[in-house]
Amino acid sequence: MEGITFEQAIELLTAHVEAVDDTEEVLLLAALGRVAAQNYYATFDNPPFDRSPLDGYALKSSDTPGNFKIIGEECAGDFFAGEIKSGEALRIMTGAAMPKGSDCVIRQEDVKVDGEKIFVNKKLKHHENYCFAGEDIKSGSLLVGEDTKITAAHIAVLASQGVNLVKIYRRPKIAIASTGDELIQPYEKLSPGKIYNSNIYLLAARLFEMGFSPKILYNLPDDADTCAEKIFSMRDELDLLITTGGVSVGKKDIMHDVVKKIGERIFWRVMMKPGAPVIGWTCGKFLGVALSGNPFAAYATFELLARPVLAKLSRRADILYKRGRGILANNFPKKSFGRRFIRAKFDGEKIFLPNRHESGSLYSAVYCNALVDIPAGSDVLKAGAEVEIILL
Ligand code: AMP
Ligand code: MG
Repeated sequence: MEGITFEQAIELLTAHVEAVDDTEEVLLLAALGRVAAQNYYATFDNPPFDRSPLDGYALKSSDTPGNFKIIGEECAGDFFAGEIKSGEALRIMTGAAMPKGSDCVIRQEDVKVDGEKIFVNKKLKHHENYCFAGEDIKSGSLLVGEDTKITAAHIAVLASQGVNLVKIYRRPKIAIASTGDELIQPYEKLSPGKIYNSNIYLLAARLFEMGFSPKILYNLPDDADTCAEKIFSMRDELDLLITTGGVSVGKKDIMHDVVKKIGERIFWRVMMKPGAPVIGWTCGKFLGVALSGNPFAAYATFELLARPVLAKLSRRADILYKRGRGILANNFPKKSFGRRFIRAKFDGEKIFLPNRHESGSLYSAVYCNALVDIPAGSDVLKAGAEVEIILL
């Protein structure tokens, strides 16, 4: 097998991108799934005041057991400005501020009400049923660290601190395109010799799943000049261009010429199956990753090679794939002279291989959630063997 190793390919590709440094400020909800561009700390204790954790009566524990006069009512959001004196109780609802002079709350269900009076027949402890200011978040606590992907819980915590605008890193500018004169769109009628373009949808859908918003160029014709012109016109607007098709040695494998015309090649060919003929290249400020057009090869190499690039560009460690080990549930009957990745379903322990492994076959990918990483020089694999996997 010719080319560089899989690890070298990742190293070279990631070395040719910088983590996005530009920031923007967005409304709180728009920050969901984006990367925080600064640390956010709590600026006050939350809850901001001592409050009742239940519906009941606020009073002095030292008066219990005993009779109490109800002197008023306080719902969440109200503020009772008076003070509770000995023998007095304030009807209080969950979330309302503890009135001055009180130090506990008795549950509504635990008192006997008689007109303006209640009777408490048990002893309450100091601070029984009592929530302290700052019990949830202390002023100064880190809410979201810089470079963290903002989750729904982060959004809620930021909201609880009155944060309305969030500074985030801008999304990387990614474009995707496919090449191939045989490709048509799903809204077109199939005619002899043509196939539907699945790669562009795969790349777009995967990128959307990861929270990116790629520019979808759809299909470029198998003509190097047209492709080069189109791509060159976008050179200042992109951080990353991922393409599929046209990277092998056929007559219409135009990506070599495209790269020659407008860019610099970093490498061609990675010693791996599927998808060996990857081209890494640059054009102005953007990195180009040109993947094989074979649907499963495009899928696997997107996961294996493009994900580390996306993770670095976007500062999103969560995009890096995780590795694990598992036990093969069935045989893999081929020897692997070079590094090979085969699709599989991993259930947390066992690894199930589908029947079809050709790089042109996409269908079985639907059932798979992992790639088995088979080292170069491996013999056939037998059920029961422990193997390394990459979780997709
Ligand atoms: P290529 O890498 O351009 O030589 O294409 C290899 C094989 O993948 C050919 O059989 C193509 O028809 C097929 N192929 C290329 N691009 C796509 C695509 N976007 N969607 C589906 N199949 C494709
Ligand atoms: Mg092609």
